[in-house]
Amino acid sequence: MENKKQDTASALKDIISHAKEYGFVFPSSEIYDGLQAVYDYGQNGVELKNNLKMVWWKAMTMLNDNVVGIDASIFMHPLTWKASGHIDSFNDPMIDNKDSKKRYRADTLLEDRAAQYEADGQADVGKALLQKMAKTLDAGDLEAVRQIIIDENITCPVSNTANWTEVRQFNLMFSTQVGAVSEDASLIYLRPETAQGIFVNFLNVQKTGRMKVPFGIAQIGKAFRNEIVARNFIFRMREFEQMEMQFFVRPGTEMEWYAAWKEVRMKFHQAIGLPASKLKFHDHEKLAHYANAAVDIEYEFPFGFKEMEGIHSRTDFDLKAHQDLSRKKQQYFDPEINENYIPYVIETSVGADRLFLAILCNAYKEEIVGEGDQQKQRIYLNLHPAIAPIKVAVLPLVKKDGLAEKAQEINRSLKFAFNTTYDEGGAIGKRYTRQDLIGTPYCVVIDYQTMEDDTVTVRDRNTMSQERISIADLKEKLGYAVSMERIFEKLLV
Ligand code: ATP
Repeated sequence: MENKKQDTASALKDIISHAKEYGFVFPSSEIYDGLQAVYDYGQNGVELKNNLKMVWWKAMTMLNDNVVGIDASIFMHPLTWKASGHIDSFNDPMIDNKDSKKRYRADTLLEDRAAQYEADGQADVGKALLQKMAKTLDAGDLEAVRQIIIDENITCPVSNTANWTEVRQFNLMFSTQVGAVSEDASLIYLRPETAQGIFVNFLNVQKTGRMKVPFGIAQIGKAFRNEIVARNFIFRMREFEQMEMQFFVRPGTEMEWYAAWKEVRMKFHQAIGLPASKLKFHDHEKLAHYANAAVDIEYEFPFGFKEMEGIHSRTDFDLKAHQDLSRKKQQYFDPEINENYIPYVIETSVGADRLFLAILCNAYKEEIVGEGDQQKQRIYLNLHPAIAPIKVAVLPLVKKDGLAEKAQEINRSLKFAFNTTYDEGGAIGKRYTRQDLIGTPYCVVIDYQTMEDDTVTVRDRNTMSQERISIADLKEKLGYAVSMERIFEKLLV
């Protein structure tokens, strides 16, 4: 058990240092020792993240005729958060250990214990524990939550004691003031989810887009949560990005759509390269205040199976609450049944950063190559070519005899179609390694034969095999190999 813990800690550590060393993710304001749970994406990270966002965006809006996108502001009228329930109940239960002074989420302590039961072959006991926790949290009985922690003999991993404070609720929203004069300034919030920007624009989009239920609205944007315990790198951040889609349906049909979107979303994760064996559904025991069914898609991170995406059947909770508070009707007239109603909503919500982390963990490969004393370790990122930061590296074998000029010419001819890089510095093996480390799927090498017959070699990152192809075919062949189309084709079958 102890060994396993060390292995998972070092696996995550390797990924964090790789992410930093090769320009994927840096700690925020690092020269001031960083800011906890806030990170910056570097030159390769931003390309990878943009590709993930683009593939999600297109899978939603381009592949579905009835899904359109918006881009709402981070600031919203404060009443939005009253209606949505976030002011009153967007809380996490926190508990402190009096000896170590460390703070924990009470629900996480119990969830971890339940997972432990499951791992030990006592899934029923774990499930019963989660149900008990859900009941006490729903009833707002924080003393009972504390009692369960004590009865379970859960101790603080730092102090190893069970000397716990009482459990308190902690609101996760960040607030700030808007307005120049302090007396007139009013309190507003940084949005804790992007979904509400979609709900308040539901009728704007429906009317101006002449959308017919069922239809969806997609959005990608920043969200902010003052997380009690922020850890596991970019898994839990205080500033992060969400990719959410709200799908508006006729009441009574929501369970069919819930089941359909569950499948679509699972397929998406597999299409971008996450293996089925590392993905699973996890039904919620404790439903959020707005949901009548909810499931997570979990990925097996180095620290265990954890939520990457949430799929919720949100009923008419949000639109109804906005209608009540704003006194503006949020109804849709359904010409097929001649009725007015507030649509029900299925939400799919995935964190761009969590998806990024899953992709990075999955792509990171260490292997031994070569024979005998030629053996060495090779590290590479096995990223799907369509999401890799750089698709093709163009490398002249040597700089002289016109090879560099020829390589630059080829690079120029490819760079309009996809992200390329040109590198003429150092031995060719070193240059391959540089590309492997950032996950570039193809290296195009210009050698002396190129000067004679206009062919180049294309080296494949995963197999390290080389193929000779004609320059005239490069753009089309590589273009298809690195295109998002290859992902979309998998989604449509
Ligand atoms: P958790 O239980 O891990 O706190 P949640 O259930 O509160 O997550 P949702 O409100 O369902 O999360 O948000 C949808 C998605 O947004 C999550 O599946 C996750 O990918 C992402 N997300 C939520 N909180 C964070 C965070 N602090 N940092 C990074 N991503 C986050």
